[in-house]
Order: sequence, then C-alpha cells, then structure tokens
Amino acid sequence: MRASNLALVLGEVLAHSGSVSRADIASRLGMTRSTVSRLVDDLILGELVVEGEAVGGARGRPAVPLMVRPGTVYALGLEVNVERMVASLVDLTGEVRAKRHLNTDVEQLTVEEGMAHLSRMAQEILDEMPDGARISGAMLAIPGLIDREGLRVLRSPNLEWDNLEPGEFWHVEFGGAPVPLKVRNDVDCSALTVLREAPGSSFLYVTGEVGIGAAVSMDGQLLSGRHGWASELGHICVDPHGRMCGCGARGCLETVAGAHAVLSLAGQPDIDGVLHALENEDPTALAAVETVAAALGIAIGAALNLLDLSIVRLGGHLASLRSWLRAPLQRELATRVLWAPHSGIELEFVEHSPSRAATGAGLAALGRVTSGPATWVDPLLKR
Ligand SMILES: [Zn+2]
Repeated sequence: MRASNLALVLGEVLAHSGSVSRADIASRLGMTRSTVSRLVDDLILGELVVEGEAVGGARGRPAVPLMVRPGTVYALGLEVNVERMVASLVDLTGEVRAKRHLNTDVEQLTVEEGMAHLSRMAQEILDEMPDGARISGAMLAIPGLIDREGLRVLRSPNLEWDNLEPGEFWHVEFGGAPVPLKVRNDVDCSALTVLREAPGSSFLYVTGEVGIGAAVSMDGQLLSGRHGWASELGHICVDPHGRMCGCGARGCLETVAGAHAVLSLAGQPDIDGVLHALENEDPTALAAVETVAAALGIAIGAALNLLDLSIVRLGGHLASLRSWLRAPLQRELATRVLWAPHSGIELEFVEHSPSRAATGAGLAALGRVTSGPATWVDPLLKR
C-alpha cells in the first residue's frame, strides 16, 4: 500500500514539478493531508523530491511547492541508429546531464564492435559521475522490432541486427556492479521525449527517417499493442500496385514518404537539395511533395479514423518539408477523416534533434524509479 502510494505521490510531483503542494496532492489523490505529508517526507529523505520557496497564499499558511530533485538518480539513455550512436545521462527532471555522440556508419560494424563503442561512451560518462549519485539502469533505442521483455532485437533491417541481445555485448559498470541494459523501439523513445513536453496528451507522432516511424499517445500512455509492436504506420499500404517495401509487402507508406523515396521522387541527392529545389519552385520537387502528402493523407487519415486523435506531430524530414506539406496534407485529412468537419485536426512539426531518442530512452529507464520509488527511497531512510 505504502509502495504504491509513494509512486502515486511521486507521479503528481513529476507531472506538476514546481507548482504542486502537499495540499494539492492530497486533494488530487483523495488522501488525507497527513498521509501525503508522510509520503512526501520519505520522498525528500530518499532524495527524489525537494521543497521550493514557500509562496504566500491569500489565506492560511503559505504553500511550499514540491519539485523533482535534480542530480541524484540518473539513467543512461542510449541510441544506435544507421549513422549515429548516442549515450546520454538523464536525471529525474528529464534533463540531459552528460552526452557523447559518435557519427559512424553502423552498418559497417559488427554488433560486437558497435556495442563496444557504445559501452566505452557510456562508461566514460559514468566515470565522471559525482559521489552519491545513483543509476537506475540503461535503455537502448533501436530502429526495429524488440521482444516483449525488452532484451532481444527481433529485427532491425536498417542496422542488420536480427535476433540478438545487445546486452550480451554490453560491459558497463557503476560502483562495482554491472549496469543492466534494456532495449526499446527508437520511435517509442522519441515519443516519450515529445510527451514530456506535453504530459498526459493524446497524439499521433510520425517521424520521417529512412523508414517512417510512428507512435500513438493516449492520455499520456504510449499504445504498445499485445507485443509492443503497435503503430507501424510506415507499413500501412497506400498503393497496392506500388513499389516493393523492405518488409516484403508492396506499396507501404515508407515506399513513398521514407527519406530515400522522397529524394528519388524529387530527383535530389539529399534533403537540403529537395528544400532548395522547393524554394526555387522546381516542378519535380513540388510534385514529389504532393505525392508524399497524398500518401501521408491515406495512412494518417486511416489512423485518425481508427483512433479518434486530433493532434498529429510530424518529425524528421517530414518536419523539414513543413512549409510545403502542411496545406496539401491538411486538405487530404479534411477529406479522409470522417469527423473532420466537426473537430479540427492540428498538424504540429517537431524540431529536429539527433538526441531525442536517446533522451527518451533515458526517461524510459527512469521508469524503474517512478513506478517503484520505495526501492530507491527506503535504503536512505535506514541510514
Ligand atoms: Zn512495408
């Protein structure tokens, strides 16, 4: 009972860090003020929560705001993607406190070599940690299908990592003990970072890389499906007579809106070339964006009809194309989504950040602390 109540109270502090008092939490959770106060005291002694400056209320005692304590409990957030490796250190506030970034052609490396690089980057970060810091674990973001336990990469066509456990090649220690490693889909990790900026919100996140990744947030919870494989928007068919997709099916959204497809449609070597051609009103590039918008309209329209979401957040090269994509995509969705005349559909574009997935992986690894704070608090109470 106490353990789950501690998690509930910490959850309230996380959601409203800096603007929530003991009394607010008591009324939100329907607990007595004294119960909440005891739990908050434990979270403070356990170094997960800290009190801010009291602000005078109009009446009664001034409220003391509670906030998440920075710099005591950390997690490693990692990413291995086609052209980069990232290791970052994230604390409970969600801030990145240290980071290593390596641009490299991961396909040219064996798994052993790749994981050895990543282990070195992570170990460097941990060796610089202050005394008294604690580590909740490490999470690795991978573009691919991951098993339900978060240990095995089942399939990652872009990395050519199939049916293997990255943890077998991970050798990182902290305080003399091995740091446990888990694995999670990279787009889910990115979506967790997006979600941190809008806690509790519902949206479809679609990001354009070599493939098209997607994630669905319902009231702040990512939709995982039965196996954790939900939201494969990139493999929704937009043209049954279209090109073959890497997955073995024909005409998937990726074959029209993925990065390689966009470059080939626009006749440009890279995305900067596409943007330059669009700025010069090049007819091939303009037609390419219309084609991409039509394909996105089919797939995203289907998702919105199915899920009743009214916010779509677009990232990767889809965000780079925002000035040309917004109007035709908005038009497609207005036609295809049944309820569009009765509720607006908001298109938002997410700024490019090469460390978004790694940061989200760190947030995911901190889930061990936020879902079970007693394990982290109790050893300090006994001191
Ligand atoms: Zn496919």
